Amino acid sequence: MNDMPKFLQRINQDLWLVEDERENMKISYRIKDVIFSAQSEFQHVMILDSYDFGRMLVLDGVVQTTSLDGHIYNEMITHIPLSIHPNPERVLIIGGGDCGAAREAAKYDGVKHIDMVEIDEMVVKVCKEHLPAVSGNLADPRVHFIYADGMEHVKEMKNHYDVIIVDSSDPIGPAKQLFEYDFYRNIHDALKEDGLMVCQSQSPLFHREIMEQTVKHIKQLFPIHKIYTATVPTYPGGFWSFTLGSKKHQALPEEPFNKKTKYVNDAILRTCFELPEFLRTK
Ligand code: SAM
Repeated sequence: MNDMPKFLQRINQDLWLVEDERENMKISYRIKDVIFSAQSEFQHVMILDSYDFGRMLVLDGVVQTTSLDGHIYNEMITHIPLSIHPNPERVLIIGGGDCGAAREAAKYDGVKHIDMVEIDEMVVKVCKEHLPAVSGNLADPRVHFIYADGMEHVKEMKNHYDVIIVDSSDPIGPAKQLFEYDFYRNIHDALKEDGLMVCQSQSPLFHREIMEQTVKHIKQLFPIHKIYTATVPTYPGGFWSFTLGSKKHQALPEEPFNKKTKYVNDAILRTCFELPEFLRTK
């Protein structure tokens, strides 16, 4: 390969993606092939084919989702809030360019309208084309793609959505403001009076401060707030947190979970809020 894409290294004869955004830790993936690589207006976008994780979406050198484990994250960020809300009709996904969360939300017949507000059209386009294991054949007429800044979108909407899913990248670049108090205040106001939201709140081990800050914002705004976790091997440390903020609903339905999924099932739905001791007091 003559033009080595940014963030890739040749080590001996092999091509590696080396994630080195942390000072003292590097995570590396051996890469078979570069499927797509380009700089968008917002970030550097790659689809790589890796040996262990299959195809992966990489933004600014950081793995976002992969064919092997993308379903774990996307099912957990979507089915928990959509199961807790008794009648979700209008759903907003902020970020989520790999389309995995929208794909899961479309499994609910009662959902009438899904707005997906993604800042970077290139991410959606390449995931639909080159990452089918995550994006699926997402062509559901209820999904409306809006290419805009999620922060600006929620500022405009009042009392509009039943469920908001914040599927953002790490708090750097365009996603930085998606971890700030004002954003969550606007989310609160964009939700109907019994609405609820969920966001990915980073690693409880490696991003403790960001997680605690996010939980604090949500706690200040919503009477009901809960952390849940899942294991997503490609995120640093594997152990990942999500935070739910709800104006009213918190109970799960009595009927068993019945969506066709690969990770979430009824038992996971009912136990994911059980936390290890160091997180229980949050
Ligand atoms: N599951 C992933 C994770 O936790 O690493 C997140 C994946 S998803 C691909 C994140 C998306 O958020 C990216 O496609 C990025 O372009 C989008 N994004 C970042 N900042 C945004 C903003 N301000 N408004 C809307 N979308 C944004």
